[in-house]
Amino acid sequence: TDEDDSPAIRELDATTVERIAAGEVVERPASVVKELVENAIDADASRVRVAVENGGIDGIRVEDDGHGMGESAARRAVEKHTTSKIRDIDDLEAGVSTLGFRGEALYAIAAVSRLTVTTKPHGGARGTEVRVEGGETTHVGPAGCPEGTTVVVEDLFYNVPARRKYLKQPTTEADHVQRVVTGYALANPDVAVTFETDGRERFATTGRGDLRSAVMSVYGREVASSMTSVDADAPDGPLAGVSGLVSHPETTRASPEYVATFVDGRWVTARAVREAVVGAYGGQLAPDRYPFAVVFLDVDPATVDVNVHPRKLEVRFEDEQGVRAQVETSVERSLLDAGLIRSRAPRG
Ligand code: ADP
Ligand code: MG
Repeated sequence: TDEDDSPAIRELDATTVERIAAGEVVERPASVVKELVENAIDADASRVRVAVENGGIDGIRVEDDGHGMGESAARRAVEKHTTSKIRDIDDLEAGVSTLGFRGEALYAIAAVSRLTVTTKPHGGARGTEVRVEGGETTHVGPAGCPEGTTVVVEDLFYNVPARRKYLKQPTTEADHVQRVVTGYALANPDVAVTFETDGRERFATTGRGDLRSAVMSVYGREVASSMTSVDADAPDGPLAGVSGLVSHPETTRASPEYVATFVDGRWVTARAVREAVVGAYGGQLAPDRYPFAVVFLDVDPATVDVNVHPRKLEVRFEDEQGVRAQVETSVERSLLDAGLIRSRAPRG
């Protein structure tokens, strides 16, 4: 018979499934900010303003002057698996040029907060406001607003107390948010990015299209002036190009977080790339010190998987060893050319 002591297997109800799925996208305020800033950039914004209250736990506001949405688009945008960015798996396989494509961020954020989208398309006659609480759309109506989109997220995890309990101190959450906003500000020097915490401006980039001036706005003049550019565009390796800025070996921090890496404009955590950048200094950094670096990899989209994780933070390269070697060589050559490191003793 079927009678035994093994545990019963049940199908989870839809609300539980959705909360679990939302938790994979939205881990903390910084993950909300990441998704909202990506959406602003995908909407071709030239200005993005990010403001958080209490580390983002109480409030997150992301304003852009991008292409905005009409009323029906705004209604759809907060629904499950809705996107304007890909049509099907073939589009994804071919490689996506937008930062988003999963169509789940706004829905996932709205499932675990109170979310308000205010938006007006370019040339549109009027704006729309959509409010969602815990996944339920509670209001859709006209709104007076400028062209572009503003998303406000309040009371994150108000309906997922277990998750709310595990948030860190507001200052720690604010640091995580700052790291995300910094990443996008550096990846998009042609976008004017402003970051505020509790009403105080932390940094603002000019949006005038120059990486060094963006670095100066976020890390300060001293760091920016210690950096030398990397620009290897005809290399022999899997990458089509490696570019960016890397610091003098004496301009360092105790944490590797200032080695920012980007794959086709996407801010990612790529351990192999970070290690290669550090490796390029050939042991000429003080122990446990890390340089400042902003490194962009130009990759054929068919040789990298950006869909490894719902938060799209990790990427996987087809030829990781090749990428590692190429980054290390390119960065090392720039540091040598600029006279910032000594050449290593020939091996063998
Ligand atoms: P994805 O970015 O993966 O498409 P999202 O849930 O983040 O999924 O957004 C859903 C859709 O809402 C987007 O495809 C886009 O059409 C629209 N959208 C979201 N944010 C903005 C914005 N800031 N400006 C214009 N359109 C937006
Ligand atoms: Mg998105």
